[in-house]
Amino acid sequence: MKVTEHIKNGNGKTQFSFEILPPLKGENIHSIFENIDPLMEFQPPYINVTYHREEYVFKELKNGLIEKKIVRKRPGTVGICAAIQNKYEVDAVPHILCGGFTKEETENFLIDLQFLGIDNVMALRGDAVKSETYFTPEKNGHKYACDLVSQINALNKGTYLDDELQHTFPTDFCVGVAGYPEKHMEAPSSESDIHFLKKKIKNGAEYIVTQMFFDNEKYFKFVEKCRAEGITVPIIPGLKPIAVKSHLNLIPHRFKVDLPDSLVMEVVKAKDNKAVRQIGIDWCVKQSQELVKAGVPFLHYYSMGKSSNIKEIASQVF
Ligand SMILES: Cc1cc2nc3c(=O)[nH]c(=O)nc-3n(C[C@H](O)[C@H](O)[C@H](O)COP(=O)(O)OP(=O)(O)OC[C@H]3O[C@@H](n4cnc5c(N)ncnc54)[C@H](O)[C@@H]3O)c2cc1C
Repeated sequence: MKVTEHIKNGNGKTQFSFEILPPLKGENIHSIFENIDPLMEFQPPYINVTYHREEYVFKELKNGLIEKKIVRKRPGTVGICAAIQNKYEVDAVPHILCGGFTKEETENFLIDLQFLGIDNVMALRGDAVKSETYFTPEKNGHKYACDLVSQINALNKGTYLDDELQHTFPTDFCVGVAGYPEKHMEAPSSESDIHFLKKKIKNGAEYIVTQMFFDNEKYFKFVEKCRAEGITVPIIPGLKPIAVKSHLNLIPHRFKVDLPDSLVMEVVKAKDNKAVRQIGIDWCVKQSQELVKAGVPFLHYYSMGKSSNIKEIASQVF
């Protein structure tokens, strides 16, 4: 079932969803199930599975030369989605990127998803590969998520890349896209970011999931601005609890979001990471409860492969 149908079926009640990462290459899929199992009591209608593109790894050889190797540390997005739908009978939402994909590879990826009975995709540009400063699309790939959304939308109308194909079968994907309450890190202004967000919707995306934020005011203002610009689709808030002290630096650095001073001070004063974990849970519960009151359709939690704190939060909110 599509995410938009789940929203409709919720009849205004806030529902629970979460995002997982594929395990590191070499690990077993059971590590994923061990994280999902404890969260099933909160009846998530869907689970997102992130996509991780290749990275360049540079290794110095004995002769002093540098070898450049391409590795994918977390493959398996499609397989995990199929396994989730099979094992739990809940919808899986695979993430799909512009980065690392030609248009042809995108089409083939989508065909695999359709054959597996997957009805949803989250369309993203992806970040620059770690050793590069700027995002570079593949030759014959997409530069922006809005173009990826257009390709999915075309396939939904039965338009494949090869226009000589006859009797083509239209896909029927529900497409989600990313939104940034604190602006995407490369956007020159929040107005331009929202302008291009609107383009993703115009090109066929049906709902937005936000980047994590720690101050609900940022989300409420973002929604207000989107509505003023004529974006009417559901905007699902994404939440992540702080879990360890090092998050104070890692989260702003990696995701370009601010942490409120009162949260920072509490974490700084905490005597160990056990105390930090509890502060993160309490903060996230407060955020969640206020968002539920505001009538958001879903609370979407970034689990980052660890579900125990999400379980504690969900048990206080749902
Ligand atoms: C909910 C969520 C899930 C994510 N999941 C993953 C994942 O699974 N794997 C992963 O690698 N990354 C993931 N990311 C990170 C995401 O890939 C990065 O934030 C990336 O840098 C931007 O992706 P986007 O889809 O928002 O890009 P876009 O919408 O393409 O925007 C990128 C930048 O370009 C600008 N822009 C957009 N369109 C145009 C245009 N037509 N002309 C000029 N400028 C334009 C925007 O303002 C923005 O600054 C996720 C992010 C979120 C919020």
